[in-house]
Amino acid sequence: MSKLIIDPGHGGTDPGTSGFGVQEKEWTLKISLYQYERLKELGADVAITRTTDKTLDSGPRTNLIKDKYDYCISNHFNGFNGEARGVETIHSIHANTANATRLANAIVKVSGLPLRRVFSKEGNRGDHYFMHRLTGSTQTTIIEYGFMDNKEDHDFYKNDDNFYKVAEAVVKELCAILGVEYVEKGKSKTKPKPTPSKPSNSNKPYTGNSIVDYLISIDQSPTFLNRQKLADQHGISNYRGTADQNLALLKKLRSGSKPKKPAIKGDQKTNSVVDYLKSIKVDSSYNNRKKLAQANGISNYKGTASQNTQLLKKLRG
Ligand SMILES: [Zn+2]
Repeated sequence: MSKLIIDPGHGGTDPGTSGFGVQEKEWTLKISLYQYERLKELGADVAITRTTDKTLDSGPRTNLIKDKYDYCISNHFNGFNGEARGVETIHSIHANTANATRLANAIVKVSGLPLRRVFSKEGNRGDHYFMHRLTGSTQTTIIEYGFMDNKEDHDFYKNDDNFYKVAEAVVKELCAILGVEYVEKGKSKTKPKPTPSKPSNSNKPYTGNSIVDYLISIDQSPTFLNRQKLADQHGISNYRGTADQNLALLKKLRSGSKPKKPAIKGDQKTNSVVDYLKSIKVDSSYNNRKKLAQANGISNYKGTASQNTQLLKKLRG
């Protein structure tokens, strides 16, 4: 099961934006606490950066998140000129749009609010938003549920029925992303019936065009790292998670194509992890080594000689 952390934006001395007498930090905490409790109830592996109205600067905030979770959602409400309205989600420049799109669509569908945009933003040092730039391998999505200073958006969220309906829709979508069984609020989880010899594939694999949904439907990890691994095994080189590559991978997996090759053994003599990665045609950049290190249980990868040796050993198996 994937791990998630929920981040209620702002807090304490940082109120965020405001509209019609409400501060952003109030609503971000309210929606986050609801989602946190619900996801716990559903058995998800979930954490939260703050549960009270306290100040959390960017450093301490991202330290709670960085490299410790598969996913993070950072909850926000927007403010601009009173005219602008609608739902936005923001993903890292290094991530694809899949999760951000799913979350935005879930909110739009249940709320009827307009979809404003799903986007990423580059700054001078990489990602523009620190929630992306400073959270390492954790895949963070910033959610802007609507504009607090827009009358229509504000009135919608001011109504608690609406507010919690949207909160719940995000819980449901997160369950799908995390691989957690979702049960409607108020209904208890039905105990799995002890059906004799249940066919293992009673849940039909998903038939749409999303590789993420497909992997989830066959109980495989949909993370970028796993897709990268599968792509490599199925002869799709230089996987970067583009739409074309995802579709190609989906086709390969559906066609039952067998992994072509854990066959490449690579350079068995070198003591350099970079040379080894090059020999098996895997991205040897610091960032990718860091990802690989994390996937192989080496925490806090900083590229030291001993970590590189350790990583080389793990990769060679
Ligand atoms: Zn905000």
